[in-house]
Amino acid sequence: MSRLYIVPTPIGNLEDMTFRAIKVLKSVDLILAEDTRTSKFLLNHFEISTPLKSYHMHNEHKIVAGLVQQIESSVNGIALVSDAGTPAISDPGFLLVRECIANDIEVETLPGPTAFIPALVNSGFPCDKFHFEGFLPQKKGRQKRWGELVQYEETLVFYESPYRIVKMLGEIKEFVGESTQVSVSRELSKKFEETLRGTPDELLSRFAEKEPKGEFVVVVRKNN
Ligand code: SAM
Repeated sequence: MSRLYIVPTPIGNLEDMTFRAIKVLKSVDLILAEDTRTSKFLLNHFEISTPLKSYHMHNEHKIVAGLVQQIESSVNGIALVSDAGTPAISDPGFLLVRECIANDIEVETLPGPTAFIPALVNSGFPCDKFHFEGFLPQKKGRQKRWGELVQYEETLVFYESPYRIVKMLGEIKEFVGESTQVSVSRELSKKFEETLRGTPDELLSRFAEKEPKGEFVVVVRKNN
């Protein structure tokens, strides 16, 4: 069936792969992968031998039209995976989904792993309404964006690298306020998973004692 499947993959723990993700990846004609080497490891683990093709932020604009044709003429559909989590969530995918919809191709997104949902729920902050920001701009526009984000009333959720986590906590203190409650989850679903909660200063002193390592989701409680 000519269809695009969006298939989430584990964010650190292979046991989070769903039965359906394995079934779909085994059945499609082709798997589009952000990094074919990373995905090869996952596919080998689950004994999936479907051919792989590279699809990432540097080639997506160039190859998207050709891929739409390829999906249209596929027998069993084509799947998209990213290195970890759900494609299109702070990862390539949106462009292909949009083009498929514009060309009347069915898109089916499987439920599955993504980093921000466990971090949000684990924060203990209100999660009935939240704003997912993903990555802030690294330089240009970052300060302006903070100016906009302070107006939001909902819990804020960010992705951040270990290299900028200290900078981000300083920004939360400066722009949102020093008594703001923050929850930082790192290495979710992995061996050294931990969630630290406190004010920006409390978390900064934790990171002064122990250098930040791993991947981070930062959750900020608004309306303290
Ligand atoms: N598509 C992914 C998803 O569905 O969550 C996100 C990909 S984005 C390029 C990578 C970022 O997600 C990392 O920098 C980090 O902020 C967050 N992330 C991914 N895996 C994580 C984990 N195991 N623990 C904490 N954060 C994680």
